[in-house]
Amino acid sequence: MNRTQSIITKYFNKDNLTVEEYIRLGGFEGLKSVLQNGKDYVISELKEAGLRGRGGAGYPTWKKWDIGRNRVADEKFIICNADEGEPGTFKDRELLDRVPYQIIEGMIISGYVFGAKLGFIYIREEYAHLQIKFNEAIKSVKEKGLLGKDILNKGFDFTIKVFSGAGAYVCGENSSLVESMEGRAGRPRIKPPRIGEKGYLNKPTLVNNVETLAAVPAILNYGGKEYGRFGTEKSKGTKLISLCGNIKNPGTFEVPFGITLREIIYDIGGGIEGDKELKFLQLGGASGALMPKQLIDMKYAYEDLSGKGFQIGSGAIVVADESNSIMGFLEVVKDFFFHESCGKCTPCREGLRQLSKILTRISEGNATVEDLKNVEKIAKTMKYASFCGLGQTAPSAILSAIKYFSSELCSTVEGICPYY
Ligand code: SF4
Repeated sequence: MNRTQSIITKYFNKDNLTVEEYIRLGGFEGLKSVLQNGKDYVISELKEAGLRGRGGAGYPTWKKWDIGRNRVADEKFIICNADEGEPGTFKDRELLDRVPYQIIEGMIISGYVFGAKLGFIYIREEYAHLQIKFNEAIKSVKEKGLLGKDILNKGFDFTIKVFSGAGAYVCGENSSLVESMEGRAGRPRIKPPRIGEKGYLNKPTLVNNVETLAAVPAILNYGGKEYGRFGTEKSKGTKLISLCGNIKNPGTFEVPFGITLREIIYDIGGGIEGDKELKFLQLGGASGALMPKQLIDMKYAYEDLSGKGFQIGSGAIVVADESNSIMGFLEVVKDFFFHESCGKCTPCREGLRQLSKILTRISEGNATVEDLKNVEKIAKTMKYASFCGLGQTAPSAILSAIKYFSSELCSTVEGICPYY
């Protein structure tokens, strides 16, 4: 059964889409309708659609844009966050590669609503080939008179520049991203003020994820109300997922919210590679919790997942079969965060250092029950006391493993574990 949709991914079946073809197939119609109908029209369509930011936080896009457009300043900026660094996530890469014009259209619309004349797209360093491709796309759109001065003779000027990230996971966090754009080390800022008030060069700055911006023209073409019919009450519309790991059919898919994880794994993904048993999923990337197989009948929706400690996050769904050891998986996650922590705050910097030591002892069979107790204590301290999302979510996998896979963890610790 085909359970995928093609609203945001409407043009994914076109290889090497040109700007001419994009326009011929209805591209930039959304922008035209926005310049004709005004800012209120966009806000109301996005509200009906129920679009929530696809970068991970899930904040309603219409609200963010509505608050932002009312901020008065001599200069404002918009930024498309294409610093896709969450392990297991590659849907923004596909959007950048396949539909750069759709992202550009979304950026122009967000610039118009927010009142910015300059927009940046912050593309991670590892996507260097896509930075070149995106610059070419900007040039083609400019040649069509859809970027630059007096767009569509409506007196609106807007330019886009590509900014190359420097390869740090923490720059996916908006304030770190802005810090790095201003030439400093990519470390998160103290908030308030928020980036929306004082962002790039201390001016109001609207930052949106690639998928969010690509969704905007698609929603305007499809109709906000119609789009909002997909999904559930609190999770409307569709979501791009990056399905990977031990799955027969990995890839980027657009799914309606409310679909179950079982349907995603077995109907869309074709089941587990080699017809093995599913052991667990990791949702939302390395910062996500591990979901044991007995929970896969849950709905893929913000409200259902967050109620059980899971997250939509970046849209990554990493599938792990029975051959994966929990300790082995945790070590990979821990190594990733240990490498990516910016070192600014103690709970994250020192917490990861201590976790690393203890997890190594557990893997080598030299741990004690006290070590296992300390893992939980450190992970909880990091969750509640870290300065930014990296440190707060880095221990998610460990804490969920303690909750759902305690017997396997305990079996790696000498003797019987009275702690659980
Ligand atoms: S939580 Fe980690 S990444 Fe975030 S500021 Fe602290 S040390 Fe840096």
